[in-house]
Amino acid sequence: MNQYGTAIDWSMIQNVAETDAREGMELLTWKMTFTVTLLGILPSVVLGYSKVQYPPIKGHLAQILGSVLASLVLAGVLLFLLYKGLASPLREHRELRFLLTPTNYIQAVNGYFKRKWASPVVVSPLGTDANKGVLWAKSSRRTVTVIIVGETARSMNFSLNGYSRQTNPLLANQQGLLNFTQVQSCGTATAVSVPCVFSALGRHQYSSAKAQGQEGLLDVFKHAGFDVRWRDNNSGCKGVCDRIQFEDLSKPAPGDPLCNTEECYDEKLLRDLPELIRSATKDLVIVLHQKGSHGPAYSKRYPKEFAKFAPVCETSELAKCSTESIVAAYDNTILYTDFIISKAISILEQSNTEDGVDTALMYFSDHGESLGEKNMYLHGAPYVISPDEQRHVPLMLWLSDSFQTRFRIDTRCLAARRDQEFSHDNVFHSALGMLAINTAVYNPKLDIFNACKHEQ
Ligand SMILES: [Zn+2]
Repeated sequence: MNQYGTAIDWSMIQNVAETDAREGMELLTWKMTFTVTLLGILPSVVLGYSKVQYPPIKGHLAQILGSVLASLVLAGVLLFLLYKGLASPLREHRELRFLLTPTNYIQAVNGYFKRKWASPVVVSPLGTDANKGVLWAKSSRRTVTVIIVGETARSMNFSLNGYSRQTNPLLANQQGLLNFTQVQSCGTATAVSVPCVFSALGRHQYSSAKAQGQEGLLDVFKHAGFDVRWRDNNSGCKGVCDRIQFEDLSKPAPGDPLCNTEECYDEKLLRDLPELIRSATKDLVIVLHQKGSHGPAYSKRYPKEFAKFAPVCETSELAKCSTESIVAAYDNTILYTDFIISKAISILEQSNTEDGVDTALMYFSDHGESLGEKNMYLHGAPYVISPDEQRHVPLMLWLSDSFQTRFRIDTRCLAARRDQEFSHDNVFHSALGMLAINTAVYNPKLDIFNACKHEQ
């Protein structure tokens, strides 16, 4: 909490429960060890060895109860006298309770388990009526749709969105790239945003329990007859890919040029992708889940060639680094993501021209990141008080020409919507709309493509 300005609510406990060892290890620093030793272990040892004189239980109990009662009365009187001054800050800054130790983590742990154990998870089917609409009948060409789920990439550090540093040198020159500048995420942490964005619930209806109890977008694709795969270089798909093929690419193999000793770079997600596309027999949807810009060790997320901005913060202890060096390391992760998206598009361009496959790509990030603004770092702030940096995410589309023609997509119309306000709520319905899938769960009002389809 000291180092990163973190507030502890139930979703932060969920983050703790659902993370993996590697992610956790990055937070175990020497400073952390020192702090825990100095403020936790040493006082406990002193207490352990000190001799306590316990008075007889009867009188002692009365004494304790008396002092608790007196304290409560005193607190009540103070609250009454000062209520006017306290009421509005307490109501407007509900986040204060997430900062008050130890009630914050006691409440948070309680809240987490209450949600987790709420009811046995029975997954109800969704969109079982899904089928490929009339536009599909006119061509026998296969389709491949790649959905890249970014990690911790915030919109404002993309030069495509007006950032002063050139963090998108490749995508800036990408023909036909559609970039949306005003997109809000569903949550501020992976454990919320990823299940939410693939669910049909939308942010206001979303809860972890509801999302777990209902199939999502990838299941609807499956019902419509697609082969659906999830390739992961993050800490799993948070339940989203439970019923489809899952491939964990995050574990480094010795000598793998796309990995360091601890983890793999996102380029590994693209390995064998051309072959995978070529050998597929059905229409394919492939989700690539990036490690992206996950902090605090930003400088570990990209190979050396992408260290364009310098000097960079090389430690997880952000307090030891200047804001400039933290931002420089973060910007290098965006530069690397620029390369990843660009390379994925090249692969899809090639499949389109050489293998006759109708290809499309969608990219969005799960949430943003604080890099010291308002003295906040990382992400995961309770949504109501979360800063724009943690919620404002990039969204991009690329559609091969034959894909556009086949599904009658008017890209000029889409390009004109670039500065409109969208959110993760649009992803579910837009993905269905883009691929012309008919189902009762599709809501055209939330489909970015709906207003942008040619009549003929
Ligand atoms: Zn995330």
